[in-house]
Amino acid sequence: MGTLAIEARGIRKSYGSLEAVKGIDLEVTVGQVLSLLGPNGAGKTTTVEILEGYRDRTAGEVKVLGHDPAAAEREFRNRIGIVLQETGIDPYLTVAETIDRYRGFYPRSRPLDEIIEVVGLEEKRDSRVGKLSGGQQRRLDVAIGLAGDPELLFLDEPTTGFDPSARRNAWGMIKNLKELGKTILLTTHYMDEAQNLADRVAIIVGGRIVAEGSPGSLIGGSRAQTRIRFRLPPGAPPLPPGLESSEEDIVEVESEDPTRQLHELTSWALENRLELRELTVTRPSLEDVFLQLTADAEQNQIEEATE
Ligand code: ATP
Repeated sequence: MGTLAIEARGIRKSYGSLEAVKGIDLEVTVGQVLSLLGPNGAGKTTTVEILEGYRDRTAGEVKVLGHDPAAAEREFRNRIGIVLQETGIDPYLTVAETIDRYRGFYPRSRPLDEIIEVVGLEEKRDSRVGKLSGGQQRRLDVAIGLAGDPELLFLDEPTTGFDPSARRNAWGMIKNLKELGKTILLTTHYMDEAQNLADRVAIIVGGRIVAEGSPGSLIGGSRAQTRIRFRLPPGAPPLPPGLESSEEDIVEVESEDPTRQLHELTSWALENRLELRELTVTRPSLEDVFLQLTADAEQNQIEEATE
Protein backbone atom coordinates (compact mmCIF):
# COMPACT_ATOMS: atom_id res chain seq x y z
CA MET A 1 0.00 0.00 0.00
CA GLY A 2 1.54 3.33 -1.08
CA THR A 3 1.00 6.81 0.26
CA LEU A 4 -2.57 8.00 0.24
CA ALA A 5 -3.51 10.93 -1.98
CA ILE A 6 -7.09 10.94 -0.69
CA GLU A 7 -8.25 9.75 2.71
CA ALA A 8 -11.83 10.37 3.73
CA ARG A 9 -13.84 8.98 6.64
CA GLY A 10 -17.56 9.39 7.11
CA ILE A 11 -18.23 12.25 4.68
CA ARG A 12 -21.76 13.54 5.07
CA LYS A 13 -23.53 16.37 3.32
CA SER A 14 -27.04 17.65 3.85
CA TYR A 15 -28.84 20.18 1.70
CA GLY A 16 -31.60 21.31 4.07
CA SER A 17 -33.56 18.18 4.95
CA LEU A 18 -32.00 16.14 2.11
CA GLU A 19 -29.00 14.06 3.15
CA ALA A 20 -27.22 13.71 -0.21
CA VAL A 21 -24.08 11.98 1.13
CA LYS A 22 -24.57 9.60 4.03
CA GLY A 23 -21.16 8.60 5.34
CA ILE A 24 -18.64 7.90 2.59
CA ASP A 25 -15.16 6.50 3.25
CA LEU A 26 -12.58 6.69 0.46
CA GLU A 27 -8.89 5.91 0.13
CA VAL A 28 -6.95 6.59 -3.06
CA THR A 29 -3.26 5.69 -3.27
CA VAL A 30 -0.85 8.03 -5.08
CA GLY A 31 -0.72 7.08 -8.78
CA GLN A 32 -4.08 5.27 -8.79
CA VAL A 33 -7.08 5.95 -10.98
CA LEU A 34 -10.28 5.74 -8.93
CA SER A 35 -13.55 5.93 -10.78
CA LEU A 36 -16.71 7.05 -9.02
CA LEU A 37 -19.81 5.56 -10.57
CA GLY A 38 -23.45 5.94 -9.66
CA PRO A 39 -26.87 6.79 -11.05
CA ASN A 40 -27.99 10.42 -11.43
CA GLY A 41 -28.37 12.15 -8.09
CA ALA A 42 -26.33 9.50 -6.21
CA GLY A 43 -24.03 12.09 -4.62
CA LYS A 44 -20.93 11.82 -6.83
CA THR A 45 -20.56 15.52 -7.65
CA THR A 46 -21.19 16.48 -4.03
CA THR A 47 -18.48 14.06 -2.87
CA VAL A 48 -16.00 15.20 -5.53
CA GLU A 49 -16.61 18.88 -4.78
CA ILE A 50 -16.00 18.25 -1.07
CA LEU A 51 -12.67 16.61 -1.97
CA GLU A 52 -11.80 19.54 -4.26
CA GLY A 53 -12.61 22.05 -1.53
CA TYR A 54 -15.48 23.58 -3.50
CA ARG A 55 -18.22 22.44 -1.15
CA ASP A 56 -18.45 22.36 2.63
CA ARG A 57 -19.18 19.05 4.26
CA THR A 58 -21.66 18.55 7.06
CA ALA A 59 -19.46 15.93 8.76
CA GLY A 60 -16.45 13.69 8.25
CA GLU A 61 -12.67 13.75 8.16
CA VAL A 62 -11.01 14.52 4.84
CA LYS A 63 -7.34 14.70 3.87
CA VAL A 64 -6.40 15.34 0.24
CA LEU A 65 -2.62 15.43 -0.40
CA GLY A 66 -2.33 15.87 3.36
CA HIS A 67 -4.55 18.98 3.43
CA ASP A 68 -8.08 19.55 4.60
CA PRO A 69 -9.66 20.78 1.35
CA ALA A 70 -12.15 22.91 3.28
CA ALA A 71 -9.24 25.16 4.36
CA ALA A 72 -8.69 26.00 0.64
CA GLU A 73 -5.00 26.77 1.12
CA ARG A 74 -3.11 28.10 -1.90
CA GLU A 75 -0.53 25.32 -1.53
CA PHE A 76 -3.36 22.75 -1.83
CA ARG A 77 -4.92 24.47 -4.86
CA ASN A 78 -1.55 24.49 -6.61
CA ARG A 79 -1.25 20.72 -6.30
CA ILE A 80 -4.64 19.71 -7.70
CA GLY A 81 -6.09 20.01 -11.19
CA ILE A 82 -9.79 20.17 -11.89
CA VAL A 83 -11.40 19.42 -15.23
CA LEU A 84 -15.01 20.48 -15.07
CA GLN A 85 -17.73 19.46 -17.50
CA GLU A 86 -17.57 22.85 -19.17
CA THR A 87 -14.87 25.47 -19.02
CA GLY A 88 -15.49 28.96 -20.34
CA ILE A 89 -12.50 29.75 -22.56
CA ASP A 90 -11.88 32.81 -24.77
CA PRO A 91 -12.62 31.54 -28.31
CA TYR A 92 -10.21 34.02 -29.94
CA LEU A 93 -7.08 32.76 -28.19
CA THR A 94 -5.09 29.92 -29.70
CA VAL A 95 -4.65 26.56 -27.96
CA ALA A 96 -1.07 27.44 -26.97
CA GLU A 97 -2.01 30.94 -25.74
CA THR A 98 -4.86 29.53 -23.66
CA ILE A 99 -2.71 26.90 -21.94
CA ASP A 100 0.04 29.47 -21.37
CA ARG A 101 -2.37 31.87 -19.75
CA TYR A 102 -3.36 29.20 -17.21
CA ARG A 103 0.29 28.19 -16.70
CA GLY A 104 0.90 31.74 -15.55
CA PHE A 105 -1.38 31.19 -12.54
CA TYR A 106 0.86 28.52 -11.02
CA PRO A 107 4.27 28.61 -9.35
CA ARG A 108 5.35 25.25 -10.86
CA SER A 109 3.78 24.92 -14.26
CA ARG A 110 4.37 22.02 -16.66
CA PRO A 111 6.20 22.95 -19.91
CA LEU A 112 3.73 24.04 -22.59
CA ASP A 113 4.87 21.58 -25.26
CA GLU A 114 4.66 18.66 -22.85
CA ILE A 115 1.07 19.53 -21.97
CA ILE A 116 0.12 19.84 -25.64
CA GLU A 117 1.70 16.46 -26.35
CA VAL A 118 0.04 14.63 -23.43
CA VAL A 119 -3.41 15.77 -24.58
CA GLY A 120 -2.59 15.17 -28.25
CA LEU A 121 -3.25 18.70 -29.54
CA GLU A 122 0.06 19.16 -31.40
CA GLU A 123 -1.66 19.78 -34.72
CA LYS A 124 -4.04 22.33 -33.20
CA ARG A 125 -1.38 24.24 -31.27
CA ASP A 126 -1.96 27.51 -33.17
CA SER A 127 -5.68 27.07 -33.92
CA ARG A 128 -8.18 29.40 -32.32
CA VAL A 129 -10.18 27.76 -29.54
CA GLY A 130 -13.48 28.68 -31.21
CA LYS A 131 -12.52 26.53 -34.19
CA LEU A 132 -11.88 23.32 -32.25
CA SER A 133 -14.27 20.36 -32.41
CA GLY A 134 -16.10 19.33 -29.22
CA GLY A 135 -13.60 16.55 -28.55
CA GLN A 136 -10.63 18.86 -29.10
CA GLN A 137 -12.14 21.44 -26.74
CA ARG A 138 -12.46 18.74 -24.10
CA ARG A 139 -8.76 17.91 -24.55
CA LEU A 140 -8.03 21.57 -24.05
CA ASP A 141 -10.06 21.46 -20.82
CA VAL A 142 -7.78 18.65 -19.66
CA ALA A 143 -4.72 20.63 -20.80
CA ILE A 144 -5.88 23.53 -18.62
CA GLY A 145 -6.31 21.13 -15.71
CA LEU A 146 -2.67 20.10 -16.24
CA ALA A 147 -1.28 23.64 -16.46
CA GLY A 148 -0.04 23.70 -12.86
CA ASP A 149 1.42 20.17 -13.15
CA PRO A 150 -1.00 18.82 -10.51
CA GLU A 151 -0.31 15.66 -8.54
CA LEU A 152 -4.02 14.88 -8.37
CA LEU A 153 -6.45 15.42 -11.20
CA PHE A 154 -10.24 15.47 -10.90
CA LEU A 155 -11.78 14.47 -14.23
CA ASP A 156 -15.53 14.94 -14.49
CA GLU A 157 -17.11 12.97 -17.35
CA PRO A 158 -14.15 13.55 -19.68
CA THR A 159 -15.65 11.85 -22.75
CA THR A 160 -19.33 12.79 -22.68
CA GLY A 161 -20.46 13.53 -26.23
CA PHE A 162 -17.39 12.00 -27.88
CA ASP A 163 -17.55 9.80 -30.96
CA PRO A 164 -16.09 6.29 -30.47
CA SER A 165 -12.67 7.12 -31.90
CA ALA A 166 -12.40 10.38 -29.90
CA ARG A 167 -13.22 8.36 -26.76
CA ARG A 168 -10.43 5.88 -27.50
CA ASN A 169 -8.03 8.79 -28.01
CA ALA A 170 -9.13 10.34 -24.74
CA TRP A 171 -8.55 7.02 -22.98
CA GLY A 172 -5.02 7.05 -24.42
CA MET A 173 -4.59 10.54 -22.98
CA ILE A 174 -5.75 9.41 -19.53
CA LYS A 175 -3.34 6.47 -19.69
CA ASN A 176 -0.54 8.97 -20.52
CA LEU A 177 -1.45 10.91 -17.39
CA LYS A 178 -1.32 7.75 -15.33
CA GLU A 179 2.12 6.99 -16.74
CA LEU A 180 3.24 10.42 -15.55
CA GLY A 181 2.33 9.20 -12.04
CA LYS A 182 -0.76 11.37 -11.62
CA THR A 183 -3.49 10.30 -9.24
CA ILE A 184 -6.85 10.59 -10.96
CA LEU A 185 -10.39 10.73 -9.65
CA LEU A 186 -12.58 9.98 -12.63
CA THR A 187 -16.33 10.47 -12.65
CA THR A 188 -18.05 8.81 -15.58
CA HIS A 189 -21.35 7.34 -16.69
CA TYR A 190 -19.58 5.00 -19.13
CA MET A 191 -18.93 1.63 -17.56
CA ASP A 192 -16.52 0.55 -20.30
CA GLU A 193 -14.49 3.68 -19.59
CA ALA A 194 -14.20 2.79 -15.90
CA GLN A 195 -13.46 -0.84 -16.76
CA ASN A 196 -10.64 0.25 -19.10
CA LEU A 197 -9.06 3.03 -17.08
CA ALA A 198 -9.72 2.57 -13.40
CA ASP A 199 -7.55 0.66 -10.96
CA ARG A 200 -10.45 0.85 -8.55
CA VAL A 201 -14.11 1.68 -8.82
CA ALA A 202 -16.48 2.90 -6.11
CA ILE A 203 -20.19 2.65 -6.87
CA ILE A 204 -22.33 5.22 -5.04
CA VAL A 205 -26.08 4.84 -4.69
CA GLY A 206 -28.24 7.10 -2.53
CA GLY A 207 -25.24 8.79 -0.91
CA ARG A 208 -23.50 5.56 0.15
CA ILE A 209 -20.79 3.39 -1.38
CA VAL A 210 -22.46 0.09 -2.20
CA ALA A 211 -19.43 -1.63 -3.78
CA GLU A 212 -15.76 -0.91 -4.12
CA GLY A 213 -12.79 -2.70 -5.65
CA SER A 214 -10.94 -3.32 -8.89
CA PRO A 215 -13.23 -3.76 -11.91
CA GLY A 216 -12.12 -7.42 -12.09
CA SER A 217 -12.89 -8.14 -8.43
CA LEU A 218 -16.32 -6.48 -8.66
CA ILE A 219 -17.18 -8.56 -11.72
CA GLY A 220 -15.74 -11.75 -10.18
CA GLY A 221 -17.57 -11.23 -6.88
CA SER A 222 -20.95 -10.42 -8.39
CA ARG A 223 -23.92 -12.65 -9.11
CA ALA A 224 -23.72 -11.64 -12.79
CA GLN A 225 -22.93 -14.70 -14.90
CA THR A 226 -21.48 -15.62 -18.26
CA ARG A 227 -24.16 -15.56 -20.94
CA ILE A 228 -24.31 -18.15 -23.75
CA ARG A 229 -26.56 -17.32 -26.69
CA PHE A 230 -27.22 -18.82 -30.13
CA ARG A 231 -29.95 -19.29 -32.73
CA LEU A 232 -31.40 -22.77 -33.01
CA PRO A 233 -31.22 -24.18 -36.54
CA PRO A 234 -34.53 -25.22 -38.12
CA GLY A 235 -35.51 -28.85 -37.41
CA ALA A 236 -33.09 -29.24 -34.49
CA PRO A 237 -33.76 -32.17 -32.11
CA PRO A 238 -34.66 -31.46 -28.44
CA LEU A 239 -32.11 -29.29 -26.67
CA PRO A 240 -29.88 -30.70 -23.92
CA PRO A 241 -31.43 -30.48 -20.40
CA GLY A 242 -31.60 -27.00 -18.87
CA LEU A 243 -31.88 -25.16 -22.19
CA GLU A 244 -34.97 -23.67 -23.79
CA SER A 245 -35.48 -21.65 -26.93
CA SER A 246 -37.62 -18.55 -27.33
CA GLU A 247 -40.31 -18.20 -29.98
CA GLU A 248 -37.70 -16.64 -32.26
CA ASP A 249 -35.53 -19.77 -31.86
CA ILE A 250 -33.04 -17.90 -29.68
CA VAL A 251 -31.47 -19.89 -26.89
CA GLU A 252 -30.02 -17.75 -24.10
CA VAL A 253 -28.71 -19.04 -20.81
CA GLU A 254 -26.80 -17.53 -17.90
CA SER A 255 -24.27 -20.12 -16.90
CA GLU A 256 -22.55 -20.71 -13.57
CA ASP A 257 -20.32 -23.29 -15.21
CA PRO A 258 -19.77 -22.06 -18.79
CA THR A 259 -16.89 -24.42 -19.68
CA ARG A 260 -18.93 -27.54 -18.91
CA GLN A 261 -22.12 -26.15 -20.40
CA LEU A 262 -20.40 -25.13 -23.65
CA HIS A 263 -18.80 -28.56 -23.91
CA GLU A 264 -22.21 -30.25 -23.54
CA LEU A 265 -23.75 -27.86 -26.01
CA THR A 266 -21.10 -28.14 -28.72
CA SER A 267 -20.99 -31.96 -28.30
CA TRP A 268 -24.77 -32.04 -28.80
CA ALA A 269 -24.46 -29.83 -31.89
CA LEU A 270 -21.65 -31.93 -33.42
CA GLU A 271 -23.48 -35.21 -32.75
CA ASN A 272 -26.53 -33.80 -34.50
CA ARG A 273 -24.48 -32.13 -37.27
CA LEU A 274 -25.85 -28.73 -36.36
CA GLU A 275 -24.26 -25.31 -36.68
CA LEU A 276 -24.91 -23.09 -33.61
CA ARG A 277 -25.68 -19.94 -35.55
CA GLU A 278 -24.78 -16.55 -34.04
CA LEU A 279 -23.11 -18.26 -31.07
CA THR A 280 -21.79 -15.77 -28.50
CA VAL A 281 -20.31 -16.30 -25.05
CA THR A 282 -20.26 -13.06 -23.07
CA ARG A 283 -18.52 -12.56 -19.77
CA PRO A 284 -20.34 -10.25 -17.37
CA SER A 285 -19.19 -6.65 -17.72
CA LEU A 286 -18.89 -3.88 -15.17
CA GLU A 287 -22.16 -2.57 -16.63
CA ASP A 288 -23.97 -5.80 -15.65
CA VAL A 289 -22.54 -5.53 -12.13
CA PHE A 290 -23.43 -1.83 -11.92
CA LEU A 291 -27.02 -2.42 -13.02
CA GLN A 292 -27.46 -5.26 -10.57
CA LEU A 293 -25.89 -3.42 -7.62
CA THR A 294 -27.81 -0.21 -8.23
CA ALA A 295 -31.10 -2.12 -8.59
CA ASP A 296 -30.40 -4.00 -5.32
CA ALA A 297 -29.38 -0.81 -3.48
CA GLU A 298 -32.40 1.13 -4.73
CA GLN A 299 -34.68 -1.72 -3.62
CA ASN A 300 -33.07 -1.67 -0.14
CA GLN A 301 -33.66 2.08 0.07
CA ILE A 302 -37.34 1.64 -0.77
CA GLU A 303 -37.63 -1.08 1.90
CA GLU A 304 -35.82 1.12 4.48
CA ALA A 305 -38.10 4.05 3.67
CA THR A 306 -41.28 1.99 4.11
CA GLU A 307 -40.20 0.27 7.37
P1 ATP B 1 -25.38 13.20 -11.64
O1 ATP B 1 -24.92 11.84 -12.07
O2 ATP B 1 -26.78 13.46 -12.08
O3 ATP B 1 -24.42 14.31 -11.91
P2 ATP B 1 -24.54 13.09 -8.81
O4 ATP B 1 -24.30 11.69 -8.36
O5 ATP B 1 -23.35 13.90 -9.14
O6 ATP B 1 -25.59 13.10 -10.01
P3 ATP B 1 -25.16 15.18 -6.87
O7 ATP B 1 -25.09 16.30 -7.84
O8 ATP B 1 -24.07 15.06 -5.87
O9 ATP B 1 -25.37 13.78 -7.62
O10 ATP B 1 -26.56 15.31 -6.10
C1 ATP B 1 -26.94 14.46 -5.02
C2 ATP B 1 -28.30 14.93 -4.47
O11 ATP B 1 -28.14 16.21 -3.87
C3 ATP B 1 -29.36 15.11 -5.54
O12 ATP B 1 -30.60 14.69 -5.00
C4 ATP B 1 -29.37 16.60 -5.80
O13 ATP B 1 -30.64 17.04 -6.20
C5 ATP B 1 -29.00 17.18 -4.46
N1 ATP B 1 -28.25 18.45 -4.59
C6 ATP B 1 -27.05 18.62 -5.22
N2 ATP B 1 -26.63 19.90 -5.10
C7 ATP B 1 -27.57 20.56 -4.38
C8 ATP B 1 -27.71 21.90 -3.92
N3 ATP B 1 -26.79 22.83 -4.18
N4 ATP B 1 -28.81 22.21 -3.20
C9 ATP B 1 -29.75 21.28 -2.92
N5 ATP B 1 -29.67 19.98 -3.32
C10 ATP B 1 -28.61 19.62 -4.04
